Amino acid sequence: MTAKIIDGKLLATKVKAQVSIAVSELNKKNIFPGLATIIVGNDAASSIYVKNKGKSAKEVGIESFQYELPENVLEKDLLELINKLNLNNAVDGILVQLPLPIHINSNQVIDSIDPSKDVDGFNVLNAGKTFIGRDSVIPCTPLGCLLMLRSINIELRGKNAVIIGRSNIVGKPMAQLLLNEDCTVTIVHSKTNNINKIVKKADIIIAAVGIANLVKESWVKKGAIVIDVGINRIQVEDKNKLVGDINFDEVKDIASYVTPVPGGVGPMTIACLLMNTVFQSAKRNSISIPDNLKKLF
Ligand code: NAP
Repeated sequence: MTAKIIDGKLLATKVKAQVSIAVSELNKKNIFPGLATIIVGNDAASSIYVKNKGKSAKEVGIESFQYELPENVLEKDLLELINKLNLNNAVDGILVQLPLPIHINSNQVIDSIDPSKDVDGFNVLNAGKTFIGRDSVIPCTPLGCLLMLRSINIELRGKNAVIIGRSNIVGKPMAQLLLNEDCTVTIVHSKTNNINKIVKKADIIIAAVGIANLVKESWVKKGAIVIDVGINRIQVEDKNKLVGDINFDEVKDIASYVTPVPGGVGPMTIACLLMNTVFQSAKRNSISIPDNLKKLF
């Protein structure tokens, strides 16, 4: 193995420790950050993610309000709950776990969240601000990927970055963040021709697809930095296994850095959610972001 591992679990522990310090500082000013999570239906994986988010919030001193709604909840009842949370001063962040059942208009739900409480950064105002490089709430997964890249202290300016996947929650905001870092950015997707040849030119690869082991050794330039966002459940010898979009066993021998799955981007996403909650809490109370968190940027 030649690649160094970017340990998301370790980095997330460090970020969470700083978030915890920042929460204590806010508490001294009588500010108590709060995060509300809403899950609709009983998808096992989503339920675990949301519970972990609530648990992590409590660990760093953020108040957690968890709402579990039935699969057949009416859209108007979900919107009513969000409206109540928008008006509740104890809540600084509102997260609605996606995907939502098909009878619910996800865009309408996301846009109903008060932009100052949109800790996922998905609503149209925050997404627009991210797109034009203005101060906004940066979506947690791309932010986590950026902090992982920064953690290895390499010059990002001028690097050729290829992002595989163009979703609103990962691929597109990731492209914008890397453009802001002066990378030259290419996004590839399911209709891209000769995808392997394009990826092979990348100094930085961000894979956010949802296809197990899609990126093979032959796609990767020697020395590339590879960030694996994918989370895929596969069966290996009758056992469930969690793997990414990168074929880790192959790519570790050619990349210079690679993130593992599990233990890579996933924990960083949660750490960034907690950080975003503290940012929004500070902003909503018209005080500056605690200095120790500013230093993470
Ligand atoms: P998504 O909305 O389904 O988007 C997937 C993207 O991959 C689409 O742009 C799609 O292209 C593209 N794609 C599909 N097949 C492809 C192929 N054969 N070659 C190249 N591109 C292809 O997914 P997402 O929400 O961005 O999530 C992507 C993955 O990241 C999933 O595994 C998800 O579970 C994981 N994820 C992890 C975290 C975390 O915290 N670690 C957070 C969010 C998501 P088209 O646009 O052309 O359809």
